[in-house]
Amino acid sequence: MKIAIFSTKYYEREYLDKFNVDGKHQLTYFETPLNAETVSVVKGFDAVSIQLTDKLDANVIDQLAKANIKLIDLRTAGYDNVDLEAAAKHNIKVMRVPAYSPQAIAEHATALILTLDRKTHKAYNRVRENNFSLQNLMGFNLFEKTVGVVGTGKIGTAFCQIMLGFGCNVIANDILPSKSLIEKGVKYVSFEKLLEQSDIISIHCPLTPKTRHLFNNVTFSKIKKGTMIINTSRGAIINTKDAIKALKNAQIGYLGIDVYEGEENLFFKDLSDKIIKDDQIERLMSFNNVLITPHQSFFTKEALYEIARVTISNFNSFEDKVKTENEVVFAIP
Ligand code: NAD
Repeated sequence: MKIAIFSTKYYEREYLDKFNVDGKHQLTYFETPLNAETVSVVKGFDAVSIQLTDKLDANVIDQLAKANIKLIDLRTAGYDNVDLEAAAKHNIKVMRVPAYSPQAIAEHATALILTLDRKTHKAYNRVRENNFSLQNLMGFNLFEKTVGVVGTGKIGTAFCQIMLGFGCNVIANDILPSKSLIEKGVKYVSFEKLLEQSDIISIHCPLTPKTRHLFNNVTFSKIKKGTMIINTSRGAIINTKDAIKALKNAQIGYLGIDVYEGEENLFFKDLSDKIIKDDQIERLMSFNNVLITPHQSFFTKEALYEIARVTISNFNSFEDKVKTENEVVFAIP
């Protein structure tokens, strides 16, 4: 099968080539994202493989159909960047990598919490300048704090387990509560109660029309003053404008994000010699209690290995017409 692989980075190619045993598939790598400007290059390919920064709206999918593309393969778990209805209309199959390493993301969420809490990033810089003062470095114990987890799927479950290990009181909200987490001591509560009771809230639900801007002026007004908010899921679950307001009045005490609403114009690029035109991210970066990482939660050796392995196996399943759970099926909302 001839596959155009978009938004590829050097670190991915090595793993993909390794699993493409005997060059079974013809993989052509493009560093550029797939979008309305680049879609013309897909002529002659059977399938496209994309990343989360590639936006496949109805117009792009129309062009893919005209070029006879039969498969849209996501090298990600989330698929909110693909218009599934448009793909279904053109009978283009959509596949993804549903779980490559939930621990990678859960552990990164934990790193954001510990860094914001114990301010190790500030201590690191300070000590390098021979400043050994403890001024403004005071943190708090995680032990016995209440941690609210929104979404207890694969990543949320791994995160709950880490927090239980710290001796936290873990509460959660999910449309499908997990029996095994309840047995381990996680208490499911309503979303309202989670907002009211948590010292730390970590977001692990997908971005859907229901969760877009789930965190907004109204929800921020219900959290305890000074709550820490962590988002490693999708940027648009938080309304950034409202988060800035809540940071300014100290309603949010700390904000740790690995994802950001406007990240497609920023993340995964070296813009160190450019002028950033996104005023919201610049404002966020000006807060000393905000920590931003550039969508790197997934970035572990184990996760990259698994993404490549499942991606190639998706190509094989598609070619061999084998049904798998990695197919994303459009469901009428
Ligand atoms: P999952 O499907 O296993 O779990 C998602 C959970 O969220 C499910 O239990 C679901 O019932 C729940 N949920 C859905 N809507 C909800 C709502 N309105 N309120 C509360 N819970 C709700 O997915 P996962 O593998 O755990 O991944 C979660 C998300 O993490 C993905 O959708 C993706 O956006 C994000 N992610 C981020 C990275 C990263 O590098 N930062 C990597 C992988 C995944």
